[in-house]
Amino acid sequence: MRKKTQLIHGGITGDEKTGAVSVPIYQVSTYAQDGVGQHRGYEYSRTGNPTRFALEELIKDLEGGHRGFAFGSGMAAITAVLMTFNHGDHIIFTDDVYGGTYRLVSKVINRFGLEASFVDTSDTANIEAAVTDRTKAVYVETPTNPLLKITDLNQTAELAKKHDLTFIVDNTFSTPYWQNPLEHGADIVLHSATKYLGGHSDVVAGLVVVNSEQLAEDVHFVLNSSGGILGPQDSWLLMRGIKTLGIRMEEIEENTRQFVEFLQELPEVTDIYYPGLPSHNGHDVHTKQAGGNGGMISFDVGTAEKADKVLRHVNYFTLAESLGAVESLISVPAQMTHASIPEDRRAELGITEGLVRVSIGLEDIEDLKEDFLQALRK
Ligand SMILES: *Cc1c(COP(=O)(O)O)cnc(C)c1O
Repeated sequence: MRKKTQLIHGGITGDEKTGAVSVPIYQVSTYAQDGVGQHRGYEYSRTGNPTRFALEELIKDLEGGHRGFAFGSGMAAITAVLMTFNHGDHIIFTDDVYGGTYRLVSKVINRFGLEASFVDTSDTANIEAAVTDRTKAVYVETPTNPLLKITDLNQTAELAKKHDLTFIVDNTFSTPYWQNPLEHGADIVLHSATKYLGGHSDVVAGLVVVNSEQLAEDVHFVLNSSGGILGPQDSWLLMRGIKTLGIRMEEIEENTRQFVEFLQELPEVTDIYYPGLPSHNGHDVHTKQAGGNGGMISFDVGTAEKADKVLRHVNYFTLAESLGAVESLISVPAQMTHASIPEDRRAELGITEGLVRVSIGLEDIEDLKEDFLQALRK
């Protein structure tokens, strides 16, 4: 089955009993048992719910994994994965990891004795250099947020195997439509489904797919014990969004390519970060491991004042955190998504005050170009 077909026919489709084409929303907490300990697959909806299960089967198929899990947010998914580790374990993270992940790891999970190092994983030698005898996992994002840095998945998987590490990939930016980390040797892939998978700025959700029964048991044990599950309504809404992921990603790809060409012509704009540009550091590696470049672009307009002016005057770019929606979104990472990262660390990472990040949506690209230009030159 090819990707666009799998988006429609993957997982569990419809309802056998009634012929309903859409999976029903099982708005239920508990299930009648035929006898003590004799249930029909479901006991209690924290443990498992048929609507959530249909979504979990779909993301499992899309990522080519062993089992999928749906959580109430991307952060709940990441928290559950990290809670499968033990006190004293050490994990190596991509240095410009999502701000919320950095905050979780450095301010919450650390209190429970999980240790972390943040390294530039775009050079796998940095990962190897950070491995200690307590290291249990390597966790990467590729492309990263907001500088679109690329990590070589095959090389990282090899290294993880050599040191017996669990290899975890946050695949939010590429989505399973363009990139399947498990095929490149990752063990766990996770998503903020709030972004491209949902795609319509109307649901907050997180997904995890694992490649083995052992990891499935570990993640499900934490899910069931800590309870950060996705409800049936949101599970349904997310499946509805995923059905159009293919056409959305194709159209976003084309819009983004054209917007980058437009930006390259503007003298006010410098340092365009987009993995589709041959001049981008990770272009070759990204092209090998992903089928598309996605809709994220970051670029520098010089100063915080200029960035602020653009943000105040655009009409079709919604000033908002988040990404991956049908609406084009615009943000200044230093003051928004990455505000939780200390200023000196932001400077280290190259997240300048004039850095603007856009998530290209599905509007007519000519309107987006005109709109950006009038805001920039106001
Ligand atoms: C948004 C995001 C998250 C967090 O997901 P939520 O659904 O907002 O909890 C994690 N990783 C990346 C790359 C994200 O963009």
